[in-house]
Amino acid sequence: MRHSPPREATRSAAPAEAAPERVTPMMAQYVEIKAANPDCLLFYRMGDFYELFFRDAEIASRTLGIVLTKRGKHQGDDIPMCGVPVDRADDYLQRLIAAGHRVAVCEQTEDPAEARKRGNKSVVKRDVVRLVTPGTITEERLLEPGRASLFVAVARRKTGEAVALYGVAAIDISTGRFTVMETPQERLSIEFSRLEPREIVCPDAIHDDPELKEFWREIAVPVTPLARDGLDAASAERRLKEFFGVATLDAFGSFSRAEIAAAGAALAYVERTQLGARPPLSAPVRDSGSATMLIDAATRANLELTRTLSGERQGSLLAAIDRTVTPGGARLLAEWLAGPLTEQGAIAARHDAVELVVADGALREDLRRALEKVPDVARALARLSLDRGGPRDLAALGAGLTAARDVAALLLRRGDLPDELARAIRALGETDPDLPLRLTEALAEELPLNRRDGRFVREGYDAALDELRLLQVDSRKVIAQLQARYATETGCRTLRIKHNAMLGYFVEVPQAIGEEFLKDPWRATFVHRQTMSDAMRFSSVELGELEAKIASAADRALKLELAIFARLTEAVLAQAEPVKAAALALAALDVVAALADLAAREGWSRPIVDAGAAFSIERGRHPVVEAALKRDGKPFVANDTELSPPGTEATGGRICLITGPNMAGKSTFLRQNALIAVLAQMGSFVPAAKAHIGIVDRLFSRVGAADDLARGRSTFMVEMVETAAILNQAGPRALVILDEIGRGTATFDGLSIAWAAIEHLHEVNRCRSLFATHYHELTALGDRLDRVANATVRVTEWKGEVVFLHEVVPGAADRSYGIQVAKLAGLPPAVVERARAILGELEKTEREKPVASLVDDLPLFAAPLRRPTAVVTEDQPDGLRDELAGIEPDEMTPREALEALYRLKGLA
Ligand code: ATP
Repeated sequence: MRHSPPREATRSAAPAEAAPERVTPMMAQYVEIKAANPDCLLFYRMGDFYELFFRDAEIASRTLGIVLTKRGKHQGDDIPMCGVPVDRADDYLQRLIAAGHRVAVCEQTEDPAEARKRGNKSVVKRDVVRLVTPGTITEERLLEPGRASLFVAVARRKTGEAVALYGVAAIDISTGRFTVMETPQERLSIEFSRLEPREIVCPDAIHDDPELKEFWREIAVPVTPLARDGLDAASAERRLKEFFGVATLDAFGSFSRAEIAAAGAALAYVERTQLGARPPLSAPVRDSGSATMLIDAATRANLELTRTLSGERQGSLLAAIDRTVTPGGARLLAEWLAGPLTEQGAIAARHDAVELVVADGALREDLRRALEKVPDVARALARLSLDRGGPRDLAALGAGLTAARDVAALLLRRGDLPDELARAIRALGETDPDLPLRLTEALAEELPLNRRDGRFVREGYDAALDELRLLQVDSRKVIAQLQARYATETGCRTLRIKHNAMLGYFVEVPQAIGEEFLKDPWRATFVHRQTMSDAMRFSSVELGELEAKIASAADRALKLELAIFARLTEAVLAQAEPVKAAALALAALDVVAALADLAAREGWSRPIVDAGAAFSIERGRHPVVEAALKRDGKPFVANDTELSPPGTEATGGRICLITGPNMAGKSTFLRQNALIAVLAQMGSFVPAAKAHIGIVDRLFSRVGAADDLARGRSTFMVEMVETAAILNQAGPRALVILDEIGRGTATFDGLSIAWAAIEHLHEVNRCRSLFATHYHELTALGDRLDRVANATVRVTEWKGEVVFLHEVVPGAADRSYGIQVAKLAGLPPAVVERARAILGELEKTEREKPVASLVDDLPLFAAPLRRPTAVVTEDQPDGLRDELAGIEPDEMTPREALEALYRLKGLA
């Protein structure tokens, strides 16, 4: 198993060629284990630490910023070593995984006492108990509560000379989700961008395929190649049947060979990383991928659906709409948003559910309050089944299942539940009602994180445990009595009996008295253990006996608690399937209630989504920009959009061509329409007074002038590659958003490309499109092409300053106001003035040699272009007038007046 792209090769870490006679037994064991896991950093358990050696130690010390030390010699050289404490290992693991490493966790698998019995030189047996990789994490602290943690496995089936179909299986070990799908190669990256896996595994033939080299690089997700043995469809089928204990896979539905091979590879990876522990995987189900809107990675990034362009959740659409109150709900909301549906019935079913909860305000409030008590049931269950659970996971299950019953009761108050809600209630009712009760009865109020810390079983639950605990309490009383007796007998009032991990219980007295204890008669009672700077420590036979009694009581108590833990876990796991179904139902209800809350509070409406080709929005808004403006106390201006075909569907959708000044709100308007389509089809209400949307099967959104230097592409190249993708791929049901395409090159080249692109969209793609541009010349297309309509964003001028009205109206912009916007941005006045002068000159030259000649030469569109109204009239060639208009004599100091006078003179 290799890992790509590894941050730093760990392969050479084990000096596997070590000569056995020159290494200590422990080192020999280390070398052997490391050799079996060459691609992982090896966390080698020694007492309370995981130690790393050799090159692993160097890498870890650099990545984690921890001290590199030495431990003995290996073949004459010092062995570099560093270690992390076991109880804080999670933090370190997180950092190593984030830095692209994989970690093999090697534990002691026997009591050191056992090893000692075999002889002095015997090493404690150790074994790797799991591999920690980016896609197979389960620790609560390593996971983001609101985000799925998937890895995907990929398999391939050749269908012809050049055509290959890919099977994609996705597993979230932390919740048990298991989906499969089949997809052609060109859609692979779209599916990956929807699923957002943290790791991809595939047979090495796919990984090493030269044709896919560039693809893997662009995906930017760690890819782990697997040796192909046992990954064929037949072995995969066998593996799946064994794991789920079924005789045939038909029970799960019918899957293609590529899907089965991918599912088998995914399962093989689970087995390889979890090493015997069994996650609560659901049987594989076909992914709804084929029934979701196709949105490629660039569009997702550009629309900032789940993350902003700078990679943060804050500021994304997801953050703006997320009103969920449970971690499971937050994850499901992200999943719905990542994959808007394309099936009318399924979309309507979600809208029906949201509508009911919007309409019933009391139910909404009660439901959300009940859901607030629901912890992360799915992940708690996964940890328990992997034997990594703690008392808090059991408590989470108890609380979750109790809340599930309350939630079901609330909903059942209504008799008219739509399918989506009725289904959820059924799932909530399938768990054993006694289970939460059993858990609450058994567990204490305050719970430790680890079961080994004990004291998590409620007092009164188990008589034998209570007795042992009493014994511990009693022993403490006995110690207090002993301390009092020793104090009296020795005459030392400051004598104390204390406890620490190294000495156990000991007597501590001041130095001077301690010296006496070293002599007769005290020597017979007290045995010297330690001398401190101002005190001395002693043990005694009585103390030793007491200690043994207390320790054995504590030991026995812990054993009892662990047995109770195991019993409760077993009871929970016997219910794993219904518990998982209930967790999913709770998540779905949380999403529905959250979307309803959003709709009710923000005044969103239920969209009409049907199989037609309409795209008609009344008073639409951009949810993220609106929220940002609201924080500043500013209103958002709602706008209408009409992209429905003017005639029958077959005529094709409209293209709305938007011109307008910089900063007017063109980009906002464009994106808000794409977001409304996404929201509508994910099942949400939309930020508009009314919306009628014919199902969008594919969404494209591109902005000109965004570069991708990391991938070695210039601004213009990226723009053109992306535009090409749209023009080649957009079908009649697509929605295309193009923002200032053609800006990354010289004016005439850009204008020509934008011009030709619109023609192509109109004649060939025939899809609903929004196109924002600064090329006013393009507005002439509105007269020539019947489905192109011009729109502009209104501005007005006040005292020489541009005022943005953000109102989209039919027609074309008169000018750009670029210089006014530059002035607003604080460009130095001299530069602004100089720009005005240059603009005047340029426009004069342009008028003498109009760009319309370009259009005249085009055979298809030989109409003359309407020129935009000139900004500067003949008798106003410079900025003198503007400067004068900006002067308020009544508000000037004498000095400012004098400076203005100089400026005016300079301009003249
Ligand atoms: P440029 O051409 O410079 O890219 P633009 O026309 O695309 O500009 P936007 O980026 O969409 O302009 O909007 C600029 C700012 O105007 C936004 O950040 C927002 O604050 C405000 N704005 C945009 N649309 C609206 C609206 N409908 N109502 C209120 N404010 C808006």
